[in-house]
This record gives sequence, C-alpha cells and structure tokens, in this order.
Amino acid sequence: MGNRCFKEKPKPLLDLNDYTLKQITVEKWGNCDICNAKKIEGYYTQSVIEDKSIFICWRCKNLK
Ligand SMILES: [Zn+2]
Repeated sequence: MGNRCFKEKPKPLLDLNDYTLKQITVEKWGNCDICNAKKIEGYYTQSVIEDKSIFICWRCKNLK
C-alpha cells in the first residue's frame, strides 16, 4: 500500500486514524454478546462514529 492514491481531503484538527480513538471501551459487568454469559466481567465497547456497541466477556476476549 502506497500513499499515491490519496485524495485531497480536509484534515481534522486531531489525527483520528487510529481506530482505538473511535471507540470507547469500558470495563464492567454485563451479558456477553458472543457466548451469552450473563452478569460476567468483561469489556463494553462503543463506537463513537457509528451507533454500534458490543459487550465481550473476559473469556471471549482472552480466546482471541
Ligand atoms: Zn463471552
């Protein structure tokens, strides 16, 4: 991948290219969206650019 295909775009004040800056992850208790475990400790991740959120328990997170 080169940089030759970049189109001229207005640049944001902050560099938001890092995906981790576009989502918020909170450690909390919840119901896992992957294995459906109830009331388990895990990570709630919400996108700040889309209306999407997911809760992943610590077990599923560690399986990756
Ligand atoms: Zn899980």
